[in-house]
Amino acid sequence: MIIYEQMQQELLRLKETGNLRSLPHITHCGSEVIVKEQRMVNLSSNDYLGLAGREELREEFLKTLTTDTFQPTSSSSRLLTGNYTVYEKLEQQMADCFGTEAALIFNSGYHANMGILPAVCTPQTLILADKLVHASLIDGIRLSTAKCIRYKHNDYKQLNRLLAEQHKDFQQIIIVTESIFSMDGDEADLKELIRLKQEYANVLLYVDEAHAFGVRGNNGLGLAEEENCIDQIDFLIGTFGKALASAGAYIVCKKIVREYLINKMRTLIFTTGLPPITLSWSSFLLERLANFKAERNHLKHISKQLKEALIAKGYNCTSQSNIIPMIIGESQVAVLKAEELQRKGFYALPVRPPTVPEGTSRIRFSLTAALTQEDIKQLLKAI
Ligand SMILES: *Cc1c(COP(=O)(O)O)cnc(C)c1O
Repeated sequence: MIIYEQMQQELLRLKETGNLRSLPHITHCGSEVIVKEQRMVNLSSNDYLGLAGREELREEFLKTLTTDTFQPTSSSSRLLTGNYTVYEKLEQQMADCFGTEAALIFNSGYHANMGILPAVCTPQTLILADKLVHASLIDGIRLSTAKCIRYKHNDYKQLNRLLAEQHKDFQQIIIVTESIFSMDGDEADLKELIRLKQEYANVLLYVDEAHAFGVRGNNGLGLAEEENCIDQIDFLIGTFGKALASAGAYIVCKKIVREYLINKMRTLIFTTGLPPITLSWSSFLLERLANFKAERNHLKHISKQLKEALIAKGYNCTSQSNIIPMIIGESQVAVLKAEELQRKGFYALPVRPPTVPEGTSRIRFSLTAALTQEDIKQLLKAI
């Protein structure tokens, strides 16, 4: 079959350019992982607060469970019979934490980003998206009927120009950004985005806090909490899969947006709801989220330590978070560098095109609060 030959050729091409991917066989032990019989410090996890590795939290959670409340499936869409009471509890808890009218839970951040934009956009919508937004947002934009223009990463001069040129030609414009960016770990300027949007009556703001929820803000609610602008963001989204050590995602929003999404959002309507047990775990951790201040401070501290040391070694690093890239350039070289670090006991992974632009292959360090200052010192020696 010709299709298999094409697949083979493409896989070969990926291999030759150092871009072939595979699923690693991996065993977890606290902040370490064992891959190919080698024990390594995990520098590639999104468990930013180190909660996933904490046994005492799981033990405490287990004690709250009975056979009745341990419900591993919701068996259907939330619009049918999948809407267990814990959904309402968690959504109320989220709305209370954020001080918003409403919240809505989704199966994942991917479902959220792939579903919200197609639901709310019409052909009279223009999306202005940062060049570096996550793949799930790109897919949401593709599935929507909106027109889309991508502005250069964090280039608000260009964004301002686009708004001025385009706002009269569209019913609504939606600015789409992440608050902390996945691959460079740098921040959007939320205050500036809000200022820009407020110059026009028909501009809305969509912010994905996947990497900031749990980590930033006094109560861990994200960069919007830190910047004190939660109520100025029209679509504020985040995932429970990263710092919250669970699964699922949320939007906090006005009641009318929630009701509209329930009626129009295909990735909410046509999928089996998350298992109630997963929501109970999210709710359990959310109750404690404000209290993980020491973890947030420690993470900030070791992130600064690594970033400053990389800059001192001559790497250009614009990170403002615990996601710290060491940009290498060529994919092959990044792969070799990652393998070297792994031999030295650090599970660091290369990130290559198409995830990042050609020529910017990198090692992406994703630090968690489970790491110690000594781990970072040893890592710097290994680099
Ligand atoms: C991880 C991530 C997502 C996807 O969230 P999941 O819950 O893992 O599906 C969405 N947006 C951004 C920016 C992410 O980094």
